Amino acid sequence: MNAVLVRYHEIALKKGNRPYFIDLLKRNLITAVRGLSLTEAKTLQARILLCFGEETDREEISRRIGRVFGVANFSFVERTPADVDFLQERIVHALDGKQFASFRIDARRADKEFPLTSPEINRKLGAAVKAKSGARVDLENAELTIAVEILPRSAFFGFDKIPGAGGLPVGASGRVVTLISGGFDSPVAAYRMMQRGCRLIFVHFHSAPYLDKTSQEKCRELVKLLTRHQFNSRLYLVPFGEIQRQIIAGVLRPLRVVLYRRMMLRIAEAIARKEKAQALITGESLAQVASQTLENMAVIQQAAGLPILRPLVGMDKQEIIDQARKIGTFETSALPDQDCCQLFVPKHPATKARLADVQKAESRLDLGALIQLGVERATVEEFKFPD
Ligand code: ATP
Ligand code: MG
Repeated sequence: MNAVLVRYHEIALKKGNRPYFIDLLKRNLITAVRGLSLTEAKTLQARILLCFGEETDREEISRRIGRVFGVANFSFVERTPADVDFLQERIVHALDGKQFASFRIDARRADKEFPLTSPEINRKLGAAVKAKSGARVDLENAELTIAVEILPRSAFFGFDKIPGAGGLPVGASGRVVTLISGGFDSPVAAYRMMQRGCRLIFVHFHSAPYLDKTSQEKCRELVKLLTRHQFNSRLYLVPFGEIQRQIIAGVLRPLRVVLYRRMMLRIAEAIARKEKAQALITGESLAQVASQTLENMAVIQQAAGLPILRPLVGMDKQEIIDQARKIGTFETSALPDQDCCQLFVPKHPATKARLADVQKAESRLDLGALIQLGVERATVEEFKFPD
């Protein structure tokens, strides 16, 4: 049998919400391992125990659990009868060939009827491990931690802790709409907000047929990658070319990018309201490009009636790229594409757009009709993991 003990950071959870968070984490774990012959999922004290069929590939279990937000770390564990002598024999046997200078036993009892208390279990097993290995007990910085879990009818033990993805379970912090562009930044921004417990709905603006479909293909691939963490995703593809054509009529070139961005936010907000999402996410990073000066950010933000979250605002490009590599979006983002913001814009957009100028340029437009055009012509695609 394959069994995994999953640990989460209890302190990260607010007291009153704890049962809800734990239940959400458990449900997310169950979804993440779909198709891997899960036989049991049990909530213990500060842990969740997952049992799988004998034949399930451990590496795949590890990969799947490793992507679930809210998990601090996890260990593969072995099941024994709930009998401390039996447990001791199996642990000592399993230590054959393992080298370590210090260790600790971390025993927990879910079964309060068990004849020994946790400290008594620690002492008894500790003495046996010490006798076998010659290693010393170190409660602070043990080289090897032996986790022991006593349940009413069985016990579990295991050695190695595999680091989890951290954060909070997806869904714990509510729904948000992410503006995803196919570049390096927005997928990293999306990942970070999912890690904070947000469930994301993706919106991408493209300029087909004025430009080709490469940005859409990249976004599909990126959403597919990110869906491994939230299991179900919806992607809105908004045809933006016609809207851009209307925006630019009579608008000086340097202001165009700012007007595009404001219109994107308005359409994204309309989608967010429809989806009952509470905020918008962008991959903006201060001063990274001309459109991301403080002045422009203020003018762009002014068009939105929902909070805009910018998880990358204080990161530099290299940090973002490093994270893109780590989360597996780098290769896709690096593919060449035709991005809608390249359509009808100059090489040097305004770095300090003034709100009055922007509003004057927008006063000729029927904003409501343009928003409606974007929302109505958007196509929606669903993604599922594992599919
Ligand atoms: P990215 O790497 O995410 O494309 P960037 O450095 O290229 O970001 P900009 O092109 O200025 O920066 O875009 C800033 C943010 O605006 C993006 O991170 C994204 O959230 C949003 N955005 C830009 N273009 C699009 C688009 N075509 N569709 C949806 N969102 C977009
Ligand atoms: Mg971009």
